[in-house]
Amino acid sequence: MKHRALTRGGTLAAACVGAATLLGFHLAGALVLFAFYVPSVALSHLAHPHAERIRDVDKQGPRDARQVLANGGVAAAAALVAFFFPQLHGIAAAAFLGAFATASADTWGTEIGTRYGSNARSVLGFRRDISGLSGGITTLGTLAEFVGAAIVAATAALLALAPFVAGAIGGIIGAFADSYLGASVQERRTCDRCARDCETDPHLCGAPTRRIRGLSGFRNDAVNCSSTFVGACASVAVLALRARYFP
Ligand SMILES: [Zn+2]
Repeated sequence: MKHRALTRGGTLAAACVGAATLLGFHLAGALVLFAFYVPSVALSHLAHPHAERIRDVDKQGPRDARQVLANGGVAAAAALVAFFFPQLHGIAAAAFLGAFATASADTWGTEIGTRYGSNARSVLGFRRDISGLSGGITTLGTLAEFVGAAIVAATAALLALAPFVAGAIGGIIGAFADSYLGASVQERRTCDRCARDCETDPHLCGAPTRRIRGLSGFRNDAVNCSSTFVGACASVAVLALRARYFP
């Protein structure tokens, strides 16, 4: 299926994230952003062997401004910190890397896991879960999360922006936070007409849906924004621990 990657608002938001990145971290930052963005667009174009798995999921089609900022806003804020407070460059770079490593890990896990994963479990207690909905994890999707975090972390390390270990661990912790929040506080709805759980209102069939768990209004964008923040903090913590114990 061919589709645009971004809506008009999404393009504007991406330009703002890109501009902040260039201001704070120059070419190295831009290449880290590409290490997240280019594979995520490529993965979204892979054929879907189980298209029914994603039809009940929130936010499909081109990414809008909220979605772009949910994934890139924390990183952009870190880049602006680096620009305005050069003395905080090292910490800001680790936060920037942790945020994009999280976004990358989450994207790889979701795109690979929903296509090729099997036996999705809820991250909470490993109950069986409906594959594809937020909070469900598969073994393959988890492995893909490691790949997604490692690619972004390796890019940043090669460009001497931030240590590999900070990005890799930050990304994994952030992606775990994403699954955890997706399985706990993220709004989950159900369509009574289809007797199916979903994340949208109305359902794809047009019928209104009702909330069955989670916080009202706490949807995918809120989960992504929170998890990239967790990933950024984890990355900074790793940087601090590394400086403390491996000076
Ligand atoms: Zn329905």
